[in-house]
Amino acid sequence: MRILIIEDEEKTAAFLSKGLKENGFSVNAAKNGVDGLNALEFGNYDLVILDVMLPLLDGWSVLAALRSKDIQTRVLLLTARDEVDDRVKGLELGADDYLVKPFAFSELLARIRTLLRRGAVVEQQILKCADLEIDTVKHRVTRSGKRIDLTPKELQLLALMARRQGEVLSRTVIAEQVWDMNFDSDTNVVDVAIRRLRNKVDDPFEVKLIRTVRGVGYVFEWNE
Ligand code: CA
Repeated sequence: MRILIIEDEEKTAAFLSKGLKENGFSVNAAKNGVDGLNALEFGNYDLVILDVMLPLLDGWSVLAALRSKDIQTRVLLLTARDEVDDRVKGLELGADDYLVKPFAFSELLARIRTLLRRGAVVEQQILKCADLEIDTVKHRVTRSGKRIDLTPKELQLLALMARRQGEVLSRTVIAEQVWDMNFDSDTNVVDVAIRRLRNKVDDPFEVKLIRTVRGVGYVFEWNE
């Protein structure tokens, strides 16, 4: 998941950037509204943390420009003020959520995760991870340009992991998302499916994408 931070206060930007990277996000930062908007237009970000008070172009203007260009990157607004008017204005302009400074990093992280999960409803058709490409509409998967044949469930599992790359997914979560199974179900089915998936997607290639997190579940991440 790619996040852009638009924040002119260097300390805050550095702190956010460090924390988000530690949590598996890919992070870039911009120090003013003009650079930020520019980055958003060309950077293909999943989410932007947008400070309201910015030099050159303020957060409101960045947000308005973004939505007028029909760029649907999720926007989390940061402001020093806690005024209802600001909140309403932000949401009217198309912000997805709102956080008042100062805030706890854990709170920010929770909001980001919720937004990214909600955003997953509007699903991207083509997912790219390292040399892997998944076309979820055409049901076509390739790695290094080589076609990989997957069953519908395997494709669903792979797409789930790719969409939530960097996030450790428990067997329970995977079972719920892919098989609509509840907590009591035998999650062994997940291990079996992962083994089959690895066999097709990872084993023939040098770079492995699926990592086991012992006692927890699986995560989609790799070293380039
Ligand atoms: Ca600021």
